[in-house]
Amino acid sequence: MNTFDILIVGGGTGGIMTAAQIRRKLPKLSVAVFEPSEDHWYQPAWTLVGAGTFNMAATKRKTANYMPKGATWIKERIGSLQPEHNQVTTESGTAYGYRYLILSPGLIYDMNLLPGLAEALETPYVCSNYIDPEKTWNVLKNFKGGNAVFTQPATPIKCGGAPQKIMYLAEHYFRKHEIREKTNVVFAAPGGVIFGVKEFAKTLNHIIASRNIIFKPFYAPISIDSKAKKITFRYNTAMAGNDCMTQKNVKLHEEVQGDTEMVMPYDMLHLAPPQTAPKFIQESPLAVAEGPNKGWLEVNIHKLNHPKFLNVYGIGDSAALPTAKTGAAIRKQAPVVVEQIRAAEAHTTSPLEYQGYSSCPLVTGYGKMLLAEFKYDNVRDSDPLISTFVDTTKESWLMWILKKYGLPYLYWNQMLRGKM
Ligand SMILES: Cc1cc2nc3c(=O)[nH]c(=O)nc-3n(C[C@H](O)[C@H](O)[C@H](O)COP(=O)(O)OP(=O)(O)OC[C@H]3O[C@@H](n4cnc5c(N)ncnc54)[C@H](O)[C@@H]3O)c2cc1C
Repeated sequence: MNTFDILIVGGGTGGIMTAAQIRRKLPKLSVAVFEPSEDHWYQPAWTLVGAGTFNMAATKRKTANYMPKGATWIKERIGSLQPEHNQVTTESGTAYGYRYLILSPGLIYDMNLLPGLAEALETPYVCSNYIDPEKTWNVLKNFKGGNAVFTQPATPIKCGGAPQKIMYLAEHYFRKHEIREKTNVVFAAPGGVIFGVKEFAKTLNHIIASRNIIFKPFYAPISIDSKAKKITFRYNTAMAGNDCMTQKNVKLHEEVQGDTEMVMPYDMLHLAPPQTAPKFIQESPLAVAEGPNKGWLEVNIHKLNHPKFLNVYGIGDSAALPTAKTGAAIRKQAPVVVEQIRAAEAHTTSPLEYQGYSSCPLVTGYGKMLLAEFKYDNVRDSDPLISTFVDTTKESWLMWILKKYGLPYLYWNQMLRGKM
């Protein structure tokens, strides 16, 4: 059996970032990356692609150009994990051994969890920046008014802010093209607040109120009827009185169905698909067995290794970490894993632990952005340097420039190269 010191599953954001840091900091260890895709995508820019302000082609580069020198690239998919034997097996049946395993295979979209979604995405009115941001842009351009509905599923999702970012951009687009007067912009989401961190929620609530956006909290999408152009939500009756952000006077033509369902017609619909951990994680002994995180990769939230199989690490979207699933989070997770491995090699313990950092560049219109940075328990964790010259809780043109030009540059040239 082929054996490496370190095996990395997934050569996306987490896999490449970590491999690059390992090659720099632990060059004596052999490392292999399992990644079936020839292409690497910079997904954070898809929000801008969906609003027609970033070129989709510029979000794709060749994996080969970012696979760190000295790392072995195995172009295969992992099919199963045998952590009790320090072994992984590819879908084609080849087994590989390891001393350390780092899992960063991302997540998958499960269309079956929202009946009608797959069919709806075939129609010209329904789109998702998660799946095809160029279609979102076409839907926006062809929209002539009515209900523009933006929503997200009740499952965890990557970049939890993305469903509302495209909503703000669309609202701005409708204003610029004089269709705003005949449009109801609706943001309907399963949660009770617009954003978990209060410093940023304050600004977002103000934006929602001042731009006449209809916020529907406690609305979880449960089915789509694309022939009738209607989406059904389950709303939380216990919370129904908590409609502080809901504007009652707007005619959305919603219909109540039974005790807990609300049917809303749409003229355009943007959504994030339901998301789960990949099947080979769910079916492995490494998955969380019970509770709300069931099926996601179980890890110690500070050390990032599995509580039972200590030489197995999990980062990125597939890990059951109580923080937002973003590339920004991975930037802080990767060095922790590298230091944990370095310490294990030296039979000592690493002082570097993950505190839940994640960040959400909340684009609130063309040329406007708030930079929400936070850690576990929704505690604000803004970069002290940026904060010396920008109040990141307020809309800022400088932060928009960071999103559009600065972050893509840093991603391709620094983060994926293991330099930050
Ligand atoms: C619309 C949108 C907007 C976003 N906006 C932002 C943002 O503004 N800021 C931000 O920081 N993040 C943002 N993100 C999230 C960010 O892109 C992800 O959190 C990040 O890419 C996750 O990295 P990952 O390594 O976990 O997974 P990925 O980058 O998805 O990589 C997973 C890799 O694993 C491979 N893989 C899968 N299964 C297997 C297998 N069985 N065997 C081997 N390989 C496998 C895949 O081919 C893939 O290359 C956004 C995402 C989307 C979709």
